[in-house]
Amino acid sequence: MKFFYLDISALLVMIILFIVIYFKRMFRGDINRYFLLLLCVSILTTIADIWAIMLDNGDITGGLMSRYLSHSLYLFMHSATTPVFILYCTALTDSWGTGKHKYVKKAIFWLPLAVIYVLLLLNATLHNMFYIDEAGKYVRGPVFIAFYIIAVIYIVYGLLKVFSCWRIFDLGRWLALFSGIGFMVIAMVIQFFYPGLRVEMFAGALALLFILMMVQKPEEMIDIETGLLTLTAFKNLMIRSEKRNKLKKLIVFSVTNYQKTHAKYTYEQEIVLGRGIAQIMNSYTELFKERADVYHLGGGRFAIVVKADEPSVNVVKVAKQLNEILDKPFALENTEAHFEPNTCVIQFPKDIPDADTLVHFIEDLSSNGKTEEVIFARDIFKQERYDILTEIDDILEDAIKNKKFKVYYQPIYSVDEKCFRTAEALIRLYDDKYGFIPPSLFIPAAERSGAILRIGEIVLEQVCEFISSEEYKKLGLHYIEVNLSVVQCMDDGMVGNIMEMFDKYHIRTTDINIEITETAVSDGQEIMDRNINDLFNEGVCFSLDDFGTGYSNMHRIASLPLSIIKIDKSIVDDAGKASMQIVIENTVKMIKALGMKIVVEGVETERQLNQFISLRCDYIQGYYFSKPLPKEEFVTFLLDKAS
Ligand code: C2E
Ligand code: CA
Ligand code: CA
Repeated sequence: MKFFYLDISALLVMIILFIVIYFKRMFRGDINRYFLLLLCVSILTTIADIWAIMLDNGDITGGLMSRYLSHSLYLFMHSATTPVFILYCTALTDSWGTGKHKYVKKAIFWLPLAVIYVLLLLNATLHNMFYIDEAGKYVRGPVFIAFYIIAVIYIVYGLLKVFSCWRIFDLGRWLALFSGIGFMVIAMVIQFFYPGLRVEMFAGALALLFILMMVQKPEEMIDIETGLLTLTAFKNLMIRSEKRNKLKKLIVFSVTNYQKTHAKYTYEQEIVLGRGIAQIMNSYTELFKERADVYHLGGGRFAIVVKADEPSVNVVKVAKQLNEILDKPFALENTEAHFEPNTCVIQFPKDIPDADTLVHFIEDLSSNGKTEEVIFARDIFKQERYDILTEIDDILEDAIKNKKFKVYYQPIYSVDEKCFRTAEALIRLYDDKYGFIPPSLFIPAAERSGAILRIGEIVLEQVCEFISSEEYKKLGLHYIEVNLSVVQCMDDGMVGNIMEMFDKYHIRTTDINIEITETAVSDGQEIMDRNINDLFNEGVCFSLDDFGTGYSNMHRIASLPLSIIKIDKSIVDDAGKASMQIVIENTVKMIKALGMKIVVEGVETERQLNQFISLRCDYIQGYYFSKPLPKEEFVTFLLDKAS
């Protein structure tokens, strides 16, 4: 008598797994596909097993034919489980053969399974694997052992495979995979000695559940909104490609105006847009010979990853078509969205050496602006920039220790007074190895590591020292604008530190104006609000920097004690367009109605200057007047202008 209760339980568990996979939309990517295949094979095996057992037990009636059929089907599906599991492991480690002998390798891999299938077919006449005896009992024949031998071959192969790639996984995932296999082996041994117990399928179902939770991690790998694979999945795949030096061809698509569109649309509309892009990208993957997967990397970035065997001409062709199609307006409810695409073709790890650098490179792409033509990573990738990024923590540490930071000053012109009345303090870093490193590169890194707090102090100290000097008094400046990072604004000790500095150099709180960015204030943090209000009560004034680049929450802006709004350079650059005229005019009016002054940043031409003067903006800053200058040059510049 055989029991099938465990099989029924196994079936239930696997059906639940199937439902989870369906709702988490885990169909994309080799890893997910092989997991799904594994699950399907296991479900069919279990169903066949239940059918066979019920016939054996006489729970249902069937002829000899259906009894042979049910047992054959069970063995047929069951023997496929281990090789499919190995395929899943190969997908996890990206170690499936490509190139020269790939078909030979594939043939060798499937050979043992093919042998079992031939034996099963022959069993129909030879009855040497199993048979149903005269009493109607199921009996294993002498060849049945082949089934176990081949399972053992595959299991040993799979174990070696998983064991050899432990470096590719984090310990948790690797252990989960390893214990999954161990679980199965124990169950197989038990069933070998006690065939009536039927523990195997149940053990298999639990192993699958375990792997789904610990290895697949659906929430990390699939973006529920678009159904695409996530940045985490992308990073994992790239790390594997890097470690195994397996070439991948990538088409990366970035929405360069993401910040602006992000501010314009609601969350729901953004999901619609994301899904739209996903759909377009998915449909283009069909043009490839090899299978391709689409990833949603966040921040308006998407990637198609194609196998190395795909001819490069195809990849470039698809990239071009995508660049064209995504440049067209996109229908959204009753309006249109317009992406400004930047499309780049990357061969990894040929063009870019490692996965970390690749991710930085992709994040950086939108800063290159919109591309008319597809660009190639091999043409634009500059190793140095990424060398700096990898070393940045040490570079900053060294710069702090050896006092390498210098503050430069960019004069700001007062339209009413027709002379320079303020200046912005901008930090400069000169590194012995890399020369000048732009703040756009090191400030975000310093914010991440927390070094920004010390850097901020260095800047403030240099500025306070300058303000307290005799030469500063001759310049007739009202105050100096100092940039404060979000991280500084959220620091508990911020107000104390700043007030201490003012005391140390005997300067007034009105000698400094603090610039905070729009993205920072929209976060609405309690500590930040408290810091800003405390400083304001001490007499410090605030400017809102980079107005027009982020999400302009006017309620939030109006609730902060701001005296100046700085209109960002990107708005100034667009100011020549007829369509922007009204927007800019109204923006200026609105700021004035709120009783704030306006600084226009990044003014480079006389035309821009006149345009903003005629709009009655209060201050102008930009290369038109001067670049940021070292302190001594700045002093000379102002004294020259005054005379
Ligand atoms: P920001 O605060 O928006 O500073 C203005 C940036 O625009 C400066 O770049 C300035 O050199 C540049 N700029 C000014 N006029 C023109 C122009 O006419 N044309 C062009 N093309 N550019 C112009 P910089 O110095 O490279 O600084 C970049 C950013 O780094 C700053 O943007 C600011 O966010 C950050 N930063 C600079 N110094 C500090 C600092 O001391 N502390 C903090 N937290 N951030 C800083
Ligand atoms: Ca600024
Ligand atoms: Ca700015």
